[in-house]
Amino acid sequence: NKPSSSNFLRAAVERDLAQGRYSGRHWGGTPGDGRHHAQGPVDPARVRLRFPPEPNGYLHVGHAKSICLNFGLAQEYGGVCHLRFDDTNPEKEEQEYVDAIVDAVQWLGWSWDANATSHLYYASNYFDFMYRAAEYLIEHGHAYVDEQSADEMRANRGDFTTPGTDSPYRNRAAQESLARLREMRDGRHPDGAMVVRAKIDMASPNINMRDPAIYRIKHATHHNTGDTWCIYPMYTFAHPIEDALENITHSICTLEFEDQRPFYDWVLERIVPILREPEFHRAKALIEDIEQQGIEAGKEFALHCHNHAHKLDHSEPEERMRALFRKWEHDRGAVITDLAAFFQLLKSETHHFTPLLSHALEPHRIEPFNLPHQYEFARLNLTYVVTSKRKLKALVDESIVDGWDDPRMPTIVGMRRRGYTPEALRLFADRIGVSKASGWIDYSLLEAAVRDDLESKAPRAMAVLEPVKLKLTNWAEVFGSAEHLEACAAPAHPKLPELGQRRFSLGHELWIERDDFAEEPPKGYHRLYPGNTVRLKYGYVVRCTGCEKDADGNVTAVLAEVVPDTKSGTPGADAVKVKGVITWVGVADGVEAEVRLYDRLFTDEHPDAGGKDYKQLLNPQSKRLTRAYVEPSLPLSSLQAWFQFERHGYFVTDADGNGTGSPSLPVFNRITGLKDSWGK
Ligand code: ATP
Ligand code: MG
Ligand code: MG
Repeated sequence: NKPSSSNFLRAAVERDLAQGRYSGRHWGGTPGDGRHHAQGPVDPARVRLRFPPEPNGYLHVGHAKSICLNFGLAQEYGGVCHLRFDDTNPEKEEQEYVDAIVDAVQWLGWSWDANATSHLYYASNYFDFMYRAAEYLIEHGHAYVDEQSADEMRANRGDFTTPGTDSPYRNRAAQESLARLREMRDGRHPDGAMVVRAKIDMASPNINMRDPAIYRIKHATHHNTGDTWCIYPMYTFAHPIEDALENITHSICTLEFEDQRPFYDWVLERIVPILREPEFHRAKALIEDIEQQGIEAGKEFALHCHNHAHKLDHSEPEERMRALFRKWEHDRGAVITDLAAFFQLLKSETHHFTPLLSHALEPHRIEPFNLPHQYEFARLNLTYVVTSKRKLKALVDESIVDGWDDPRMPTIVGMRRRGYTPEALRLFADRIGVSKASGWIDYSLLEAAVRDDLESKAPRAMAVLEPVKLKLTNWAEVFGSAEHLEACAAPAHPKLPELGQRRFSLGHELWIERDDFAEEPPKGYHRLYPGNTVRLKYGYVVRCTGCEKDADGNVTAVLAEVVPDTKSGTPGADAVKVKGVITWVGVADGVEAEVRLYDRLFTDEHPDAGGKDYKQLLNPQSKRLTRAYVEPSLPLSSLQAWFQFERHGYFVTDADGNGTGSPSLPVFNRITGLKDSWGK
């Protein structure tokens, strides 16, 4: 997975690693990895990133960029990336979305596992601490409870030209604010009655710094915490805390949060003294647990921990420490009895563990540590696509598309069903890179990525999408019987002989594309027209003699004669020179299928921009169904199978077509054509 180029985020990570910013945290090196072991147990200096979706909808191609960016940087620099649900807003969030997001991230190829490389977290699991932080800020004069109405607050905020006005509650006693906050928490006030605000500067030129709200009342059931809380932290307050608790080093977000960075830093700087409290509490509990076991051979335990230190992850140590401890006890059949000695030992060995234990043992010593830093990059804007969750939802709710996984949707489930591969999306993300300047990425880049991925791996097949019958009128004469079938073969993939041969047969009737025949050929047309010869790919040369028509003059069959001794791959086959080669499927063994010809959902490059009504810009040709014929024996299981239909593009089987749904025919989705047909 070689990065294609450098960018400002890689530069930031490399600079921080080079300066050793994350060293000295004693997380334990990885023995034998050659980087840290030579000098003894030196910190592996990991970067830690996160992808923090709010579970309020389905992920889309923009999120895919962010996922690949964060997980990709972690992978590249030997770091860690968390999937963290930013679930601080109960009303919009649902388990359905949580599940869909987990699925999408895994499908893209990223994972989290028990080996302490990456984890899955919920911001809502930090509500206790967030609440504690709110009380702490109030106690230290950095926050207050404001009882102004929402309208008053808005009016007093000022605007870009006018400074705001201090709330009459701004300088109330900390004890009073604290009392109100506790009442809020205890459910004694209705929604909107009051909020907790950071006390910063009502005259700040940055409106985000004019005493932003940090907690609000919301009597709502949360998908994870149920009815435990009726107050919830604001996103801008919660986010830096989540990052800090997870020891995130580089917190990457989109540009619209740039003006929030001062507040992000403001929060972190003020809560440093309490940031390690949750770890401390966990560690204390752990040590109490160890105490109850008694101490006998602490040294061995410490040594054991030391040897396994590389498995310990700072951000989720409790359970792992416990497990290690139990295993150690179990292996030794040992029980710790000499508590004092064990503690002494732990103290002397703590640098081998995690900061967790050192803080647990010396709670008053707050080591300097690295606060997360926020970086902003330009979000992905893709031409011909809308990515606003609200607008995508409207497309679904108004049945403009067939659900979130409609193959025309830019959602990950939609693209997946369309036939996009995880590799293609990762390739796309890598190619578009990241920058600080927003701009538009052309949709054709996404299509090019899937073509480039599938070109080297999708088996080839012939399919006729707009069929008309071709009758070979001299067939019986040449082969002795109208029923005679000539066996034909072709490599499944021109560069992958291991995929073997496709086999199909040529008889007196076959399906060809309607536009491979022209009664009166336009200039430069080399396919079938009366008097012209073409090659049936992998088959014979045929000479067109005319066509049959119905009463309205529509062509119902094309007529031709087979030219003997011209079969592909036989000696002398090339003696008859032709300018055109056409694809075909035998009537005898072709399989009827439904092919869904998908195209861009919008006709406008920027359907979402400048006050345009995106629903007026729908492409009426974005979904077209055809009754097609495909080669026999394509695998048509319910699992996705990818093909390049020769001359047509890339196609994938759809779950609808596994014989159980409607239609009961096999169904193929067109992913994209062989080349960009929209041009530029
Ligand atoms: P909304 O805030 O409207 O609910 P969102 O698209 O911002 O929607 P989040 O769940 O907050 O959704 O996003 C998760 C992460 O994905 C964020 O870090 C965000 O910056 C990133 N992200 C969202 N949209 C894009 C995009 N178009 N390009 C790149 N990153 C994106
Ligand atoms: Mg969001
Ligand atoms: Mg967002």
